[in-house]
Amino acid sequence: MEKLKKTGMKQTPQRLAIMHHLEGNKCHPSAEDIYKSISPKFPSMSFATVYNTLENLKDHGLIKELTIESGKKRFDPDTSDHHHLICVKCKKIVDLPQEIQLQQKALTTAGVIKGFRILSTQINIYGLCPECTKTSS
Ligand code: ZN
Ligand code: MN
Repeated sequence: MEKLKKTGMKQTPQRLAIMHHLEGNKCHPSAEDIYKSISPKFPSMSFATVYNTLENLKDHGLIKELTIESGKKRFDPDTSDHHHLICVKCKKIVDLPQEIQLQQKALTTAGVIKGFRILSTQINIYGLCPECTKTSS
């Protein structure tokens, strides 16, 4: 919660709940997902509050936005450079295992490819997750 203080954002109970929900969260939730899981505790909280909080946290570099589905942003509290496996059926997003992060060294922010200095990376690998593989066979 120190992180929140540093941004100068007010520590409202709603914001803290959103931060708590995201801390260590590996599910890459959307704003809708976060709203659904937190709103029972804060019935008066609007979706706009959740959305704006996420935008604020993103602008302050505390979370990352994944642009995977157009029109449905997903959020990742892990702001390190890492890549994702995405299920095309259920839209599950999983971190690519560390040992197969693609040429991670070349893709760090210090890297240069074809003369392009890398500022950020977002590599998406699409497929079917184990559950969807089972149900589609
Ligand atoms: Zn799936
Ligand atoms: Mn991730």
